[in-house]
Amino acid sequence: CGIIGIVGSASVADRLVDGLRRMEYRGYDSAGLCTLHEGTLVRRRAEGKLANLARVLEADPAPGHVGIAHTRWATHGAPTAANAHPHATGEVAIVHNGIIENFKELRAELAAQGRLFESETDSEVVAHLISAEIERGADPLEAVRDVLPRLRGAFALAIAFRQHPDLLIGARLGSPLVLGYGPEGEEPEMYLGSDALALAPLTQRITYLEEGDWVVVRRDGAQIYDSENNPVTREIRASGASA
Ligand code: GLU
Repeated sequence: CGIIGIVGSASVADRLVDGLRRMEYRGYDSAGLCTLHEGTLVRRRAEGKLANLARVLEADPAPGHVGIAHTRWATHGAPTAANAHPHATGEVAIVHNGIIENFKELRAELAAQGRLFESETDSEVVAHLISAEIERGADPLEAVRDVLPRLRGAFALAIAFRQHPDLLIGARLGSPLVLGYGPEGEEPEMYLGSDALALAPLTQRITYLEEGDWVVVRRDGAQIYDSENNPVTREIRASGASA
């Protein structure tokens, strides 16, 4: 029920959990995060409260300067650690808020291609669809651009790519997602979040993505595309949310 992502210049795990804490008021049943570190996707998840995820991270830290995190309010699949987000393949990790209404058809199609599912969620199909494109040789932008039109329902997504440790892609349709602008200069950072509140300790400069927008987020800036894949500029505002 909450998403946060950081393309950062310093360790992100603690800051991701902090962002999730600020969205606790929305309610959730499990939580997780994934960082990029030395060419691998480092994923940690836990059922229940954020304190459980924090304990998992204490025992088994998730280093890295780029990552995505999620609090889940289950719609499809029990609130277990295996159904907690991020969902991942060898190549990509995704967090999703909302419902993918055509997930059964998509899952059947992917299963027929021999892809193995680890969860009961509607969300996991998104990881597999994007992964399949990457494995066919698509770059991350092409993969996301081609997969988004296949999804029915409502989503806010943040996606990390194993082979691109300096990049996140976000997308929204029917669920909110904001882009946050961090410091510029020597150690730039950019952020994604479900709301301005989650990003308040990180930045007050935000852009509300519009319906159907998707965004390629790098450390030193972002490019937003509309639902027809045209590059667009959206207004940057002062969030007014207090840190
Ligand atoms: N439908 C997804 C699931 O059940 C996402 C739920 C949410 O928005 O947290 O995993």
